[in-house]
Amino acid sequence: MPVTVLQNFIGGEFVNSNNTEQYIDSYNPATGKVHAKVPDSNEVDVNKAVEAAQAAFKTWSKLPSSHRSNFLYRIADVLESRLKEFAEAEVRDQGKTIKFATNIDISRSVYNFRYFAGHVLHMEEKAGQLDGVALNYVQRCPIGVAGLISPWNLPLYLLTWKIAPCIASGNTCVCKPSEFTSLTAYMLCSVLKEAKLPDGVVNMVFGSGPSTGEALVTHPNVPLISFTGGTVTGKHIMESSAKQLKKLSLELGGKNANIIFDDCNFEQAVETSIRAAFSNQGEICLCGSRIFVQETIYQKFLDTFIPKARDLVVGDPNDPKTFVGALNNKQHMEKVLMYIDLARQEGGVIECGGSRKILQGELSEGYFVEPTVITGVSLTSRVAREEIFGPVVTVHPFTDEQQAIDYANDSLYGLSCSVWTENGRRARRVAESIDAGTVWVNCWLVRDLRMPFGGMKGSGLGREGADYSMDFFTESKTICLAN
Ligand code: NAD
Repeated sequence: MPVTVLQNFIGGEFVNSNNTEQYIDSYNPATGKVHAKVPDSNEVDVNKAVEAAQAAFKTWSKLPSSHRSNFLYRIADVLESRLKEFAEAEVRDQGKTIKFATNIDISRSVYNFRYFAGHVLHMEEKAGQLDGVALNYVQRCPIGVAGLISPWNLPLYLLTWKIAPCIASGNTCVCKPSEFTSLTAYMLCSVLKEAKLPDGVVNMVFGSGPSTGEALVTHPNVPLISFTGGTVTGKHIMESSAKQLKKLSLELGGKNANIIFDDCNFEQAVETSIRAAFSNQGEICLCGSRIFVQETIYQKFLDTFIPKARDLVVGDPNDPKTFVGALNNKQHMEKVLMYIDLARQEGGVIECGGSRKILQGELSEGYFVEPTVITGVSLTSRVAREEIFGPVVTVHPFTDEQQAIDYANDSLYGLSCSVWTENGRRARRVAESIDAGTVWVNCWLVRDLRMPFGGMKGSGLGREGADYSMDFFTESKTICLAN
């Protein structure tokens, strides 16, 4: 397959970056070979994109929401008609399995547009009569040009989760996808064209964080930034955007607890814990990477969980039987392997996995890592505290409910948690005591897009989802009409 050379998408046109000297090599993680070249756009490119978005805002923000909704429905339809092509591209670019890309990434990207196309039609605003004095009502105002910055783990899924509410509510945007996974965002531009989205409503500038991302975050005409990525980057963005008092949404890292009580449905708990640990190679911010098991069933859990982890098929992401594909990039794979080594130094027992997996032929240079289960590390170890973001979990025993809650909450992060118990009262007590944005009881990754999604503590600021995204992408103005 020939190497794809990406261009920016500004004002409805594909254009070369001003920085034609500098392209970033994008690797197919399964083969370790360059498959795309991503421009490292600079301030000049970002300025042009912001100007195009500002120009488009003038008319887009004034369209009735039903018109905007129609565009979103059309984008969803066109994207859906190309689902297979997009899923294959996401596999090539990200390393994930074709099954995951098809059923989760691209299907959900289609749904993101469809969901917000519908949602914007049903929004109601508060209005109230102040007896004999005035009538008050709220006007929701789009804000302007939003900077949308996304990570590499769920590339199109997370980007469209921002684009859809942003444009549905009347804003325009400049997107900066991860430099590791820009391909499907680039392809999305042709979908936008086919759906006849007005020029400049969505602009795409490709490049690295320090160059393209920084220029977007510090741009004076970009009053809001929606960011999903690592906690360190999130803090940096908060600092660099503070001078201009930008509105910020930060969806950051996680180190999520998965608490398994001895009164759980054991089979269901084990099956789902496997998915929560190793889906998408553990590269989901919501993965349950700290597993806490009540001591009465600790050994039984290990005896069941470890063989299942060992049996997961690691291999060709394009093979529908594969469960664990390639990690996204070489540096990341090295980081994951570093944590496994660290676990050994920290006194951990590698119960299964623990190494890079070398495959044959075309895949011999791929970034594959075996699903790895670690026991025996303390809760204060780096491996148990820091986000590894790979197919690696630590398992720890606990004695009682209070200890499970204390262990789960002893983290700098607070994104999500799963609790496994058949005792309804306990489920509520524990769920309500956990410091995390989402607590799943007897399930994992079940999402209702009407619910607020986001993190506590180091996992972020703000919430996304239906009204929550709309709150972020609009300002509410109270209009008071005197009697
Ligand atoms: P990252 O923070 O390295 O990069 C995310 C994005 O920010 C990329 O597009 C990158 O180019 C850009 N960026 C980097 N430096 C920047 C700067 N100075 N200014 C502006 N932009 C900059 O994260 P990553 O490695 O791509 O993604 C993995 C992380 O994302 C993990 O920590 C994971 O938990 C987190 N994540 C969180 C959620 C969530 O919803 N909370 C979802 C997915 C991923």
